Amino acid sequence: MEALSSWRNVLSSSQTKQAYTAYVREWEARIGAFLEFDPDRLSGGGRPAGTDASAADHPLAGIPFAVKDNIAVEGFSLTCASRMLEGLASPYTATAVARLQAAGAVVVGKTNLDEFGMGSSTDNSALGRTSNPWDPSRVAGGSSGGSAAAVAAGLVPFALGTDTGGSIRQPAAFCGVYGLKPTYGAVSRYGLVAYASSLEGIGVLAGSAQLARLVFETMRGIDPRDHSSVEYQASGEAPSPLRVGVLGGIRELSPEVEGVYRNAITTLRELGMQTSEITLSTLEYVVPAYYTIATAEASANLARFNGIRYGHRPAFAENPEQLVQASRDEGFGEEVKLRILLGTYVLRSGFQDQYYVRAQRVRTAIRNELASAFAGVDVLLLPVFPTPAFKRGAEGLTPFQQKLADKFTATANLAGVPGLAFPAGTVDGLPVGLQLLAPPFEEERLFRAAERYAEASPNRHPAGYSKEWMR
Ligand code: GLN
Repeated sequence: MEALSSWRNVLSSSQTKQAYTAYVREWEARIGAFLEFDPDRLSGGGRPAGTDASAADHPLAGIPFAVKDNIAVEGFSLTCASRMLEGLASPYTATAVARLQAAGAVVVGKTNLDEFGMGSSTDNSALGRTSNPWDPSRVAGGSSGGSAAAVAAGLVPFALGTDTGGSIRQPAAFCGVYGLKPTYGAVSRYGLVAYASSLEGIGVLAGSAQLARLVFETMRGIDPRDHSSVEYQASGEAPSPLRVGVLGGIRELSPEVEGVYRNAITTLRELGMQTSEITLSTLEYVVPAYYTIATAEASANLARFNGIRYGHRPAFAENPEQLVQASRDEGFGEEVKLRILLGTYVLRSGFQDQYYVRAQRVRTAIRNELASAFAGVDVLLLPVFPTPAFKRGAEGLTPFQQKLADKFTATANLAGVPGLAFPAGTVDGLPVGLQLLAPPFEEERLFRAAERYAEASPNRHPAGYSKEWMR
């Protein structure tokens, strides 16, 4: 696998570790991908925690990786980029991380995100600002923006992220890397701080489809600690020639993304795949259904943060009720408060039929429409986001525009199917990613198609990306 072997030695001597740290620090001054970075913490003194002797042969042995800071890793903090959890030491390690550690891979840091995973820019982080390595005036995307930026800049070969409505695929597309959102339940959510449990999952951002596959295969599988996790039922080789469903005239795409989408269809045909046009009439309902369900689940999941057992404690409170109020008022950011209020609103007694129950019906319709599309094609090619990475601030997109743009990604979460964002081209010096969707447990089709695509259209890196320091 391209360059994975050179990463293997990075943490093994203090000399290479120093060169590594210097490279990371140089990039970090510009992009701020990490909330915490320490290559010594879990790699010091022989074998990393959890490694057994047989792990030495695993291709991931000794390989550094980063973890989004809403996934638990013992030895690091677990902040969810929120004031609410600032300074919290993680009491345990997520199953997905533990499985990678058992293979010998080493966590070197925790990456920035939109607070509790709520957003599309990483600008909703209360604890740091992350910029796009291709152009620091632009966002890295979100909510796994730190993980995407770290991989794109070459600070780690892969990083874990989470995807509730697009949070792995969208930043991957903005930063020019691969981002896999697995089949719902394929990777244990034990140790992931819950935002919207029925939609989210842990996945991987990586510099190649091959590496994304290796990481996915290492961390997937049933886990007694997560009752929604399932035994993975791989169906084997991807069919050949692959039949790809593509969307006809999509109105909301920017010229850049539209152009890359058209070119990608041509490229896939040149690679011998068959393409046919399909319509997804439920696409129009994805965003309202997604935000109804996601905020309803968020309002329940975030009720546990009250400053009593853990979480931000106000300096003073007269009574327990005031303590909880002040803890949440001071601890949560604006976007989080907005979503808790929205979720409480849609679940209000007497209104559930109007919002929540209706959204669940739409969800079923979306799931059914995708299932019937997959009766005629093996994979679907969709845009990830209507634009390339947008600028931060007034020149960028409003929070509402960002939410509307989730329609292409949240579809996969509502249906529980896997999606892989891949670098499909660059326009004016910015990467544009597209995504492939497949039926549940058919991740192999996604990896295979993306590998083939990379043969025809080699992946590029941002200026300043280097592996020279490894020498
Ligand atoms: N942009 C979406 C949101 O803000 C996706 C978030 C996610 O996948 N965690 O909810």
